[in-house]
Amino acid sequence: MYNKIKFSFVYSYHTIQRGQHLPNKLHGATVLSVRTYADKPPIDADVTVVGSGPGGYVAAIKAAQLGFKVSFYSMCRKECDPRGDVLERGLHPALLNNSYLYHLAHGKDFESRGIEIQGISLNLEKMMAQKSGAVKALTGGIAHLFKQNKVTHVNGFGLITGKNQVTAKTVDGEQVINTKNILIATGSEVTPFPGIEIDEDTIVSSTGALSLKKVPEELIVIGAGVIGVELGSVWQRLGTTVTAVEFLGHVGGMGIDMEISKNFQRILQKQGLKFKLSTKVMGATKRPDGKIDVAVEAAAGGKNETLTCDVLLVCIGRRPFTGNLGLEAVGIELDNRGRIPVNGRFQTKVPNIYAIGDVIAGPMLAHKAEDEGIICVEGMAGGAVHIDYNCVPSVIYTHPEVAWVGKTEEQLKEEGVPYKVGKFPFAANSRAKTNADTDGLVKILSHKDTDRMLGAHILGSGAGEMINEAALAMEYGASCEDVARVCHAHPTVSEAFREANLAASFGKAINF
Ligand SMILES: Cc1cc2nc3c(=O)[nH]c(=O)nc-3n(C[C@H](O)[C@H](O)[C@H](O)COP(=O)(O)OP(=O)(O)OC[C@H]3O[C@@H](n4cnc5c(N)ncnc54)[C@H](O)[C@@H]3O)c2cc1C
Repeated sequence: MYNKIKFSFVYSYHTIQRGQHLPNKLHGATVLSVRTYADKPPIDADVTVVGSGPGGYVAAIKAAQLGFKVSFYSMCRKECDPRGDVLERGLHPALLNNSYLYHLAHGKDFESRGIEIQGISLNLEKMMAQKSGAVKALTGGIAHLFKQNKVTHVNGFGLITGKNQVTAKTVDGEQVINTKNILIATGSEVTPFPGIEIDEDTIVSSTGALSLKKVPEELIVIGAGVIGVELGSVWQRLGTTVTAVEFLGHVGGMGIDMEISKNFQRILQKQGLKFKLSTKVMGATKRPDGKIDVAVEAAAGGKNETLTCDVLLVCIGRRPFTGNLGLEAVGIELDNRGRIPVNGRFQTKVPNIYAIGDVIAGPMLAHKAEDEGIICVEGMAGGAVHIDYNCVPSVIYTHPEVAWVGKTEEQLKEEGVPYKVGKFPFAANSRAKTNADTDGLVKILSHKDTDRMLGAHILGSGAGEMINEAALAMEYGASCEDVARVCHAHPTVSEAFREANLAASFGKAINF
């Protein structure tokens, strides 16, 4: 039995512009016939994507838009959905936002603005249900896009069974796909902590921390990196006493500018988060009363201590996921950190097998995976492949947010690059002042001789939005004067970004 699906392309204006420059655009496949899986004959494809995260699904849609016949594999670790376990990560902005609103209403903030509400209480079950609804709407949208772009979606575990073949283990048997190209986008998984077993009940990873049934009294977070401080903030706002134990001497993980990190830590501590920095966790023991004892020691050695909590969150990072993928069968070896080595066009040592996203080197970020997915399939169609990793922004979605792109001051010092610094505090920004939300600053680093923007570091409300202005400027090689001369609407918090550029370029801001 055949399902005939009418072929349709959905191009944004931008896509059409870039697509026109691709030499081997594969237009013309106007009708795609897809068999149903009942009799499981092999499927033929130009591109088969294995992995259903932001890298994989975006690559599948883009490849279909370029005229490739695309098959897409998703493995359901939990819910059967094109985006697999990425669903759980989608819960994360919903909880960050809702816990912040609760905090505003429940704490002194609303009251200080003259908004007095009596009898505020938390309905955690409803809060969790609201975010699940939001995530379902998002993933339903992707299923629709697949249909619209005629991406064949096979729900199963994809195994590479040859240089031109992928076999999916589905709930009702096996499905073979004969394919010209394979794109591996199998992402990452939680890095386990040796000796501490995650049960996703009281000893949890980020997945379990997003679905706790009740608000813990005491939460210990192992790792004060991006996810650790975000999830710690969520539960702290909902009433938990949170202590983050961190091996490094600073919060916010790798890549954060140290001046920003110090200010960030101070603000989080003011909010109630506790940090034990330069401290390592030695082990954890469950007690008969259900509590957990966590043994910690100074990172340099010596000072021991036992901390106690109801819930322990293990948040020490993620590692590439390549389990049972069949890489050995085609001779692909992993590097020393378990990643798939690729060249500048995302080709593995087998030229028609590509890899993108968390499974290869580079920052583990959704937008990095998406961008790689798009340019990788453009490359398959003969297009240019280029990404400047220095222009990939990073964001910590706490309140205030932290966002950065480009070099830190420490990196510039280490590399011996002559630089200038321009800063502007939100306390001097009129919109931040009227919003009564003045924590933080913008810090801009530029080349001392050329004024070219080398790095932007923002700590403040809306930093995650504002950083895209910096990424755009850096992609275009803008100088700080270029940005400072762009008219910014008033009153907006983005004016602080302009002022910091003014300070970097001319040595002085206007309003500070
Ligand atoms: C709690 C949390 C919060 C995060 N927040 C952010 C954020 O705010 N911003 C941001 O940029 N990044 C964030 N990240 C990181 C981001 O989620 C990842 O960088 C991104 O999802 C990587 O995308 P990917 O496509 O490479 O792989 P993944 O998203 O890991 O997706 C891979 C998918 O492939 C499936 N799969 C694996 N093997 C197979 C197989 N053999 N066959 C079929 N399917 C398979 C997996 O089940 C998975 O669903 C967060 C991560 C976590 C854990």
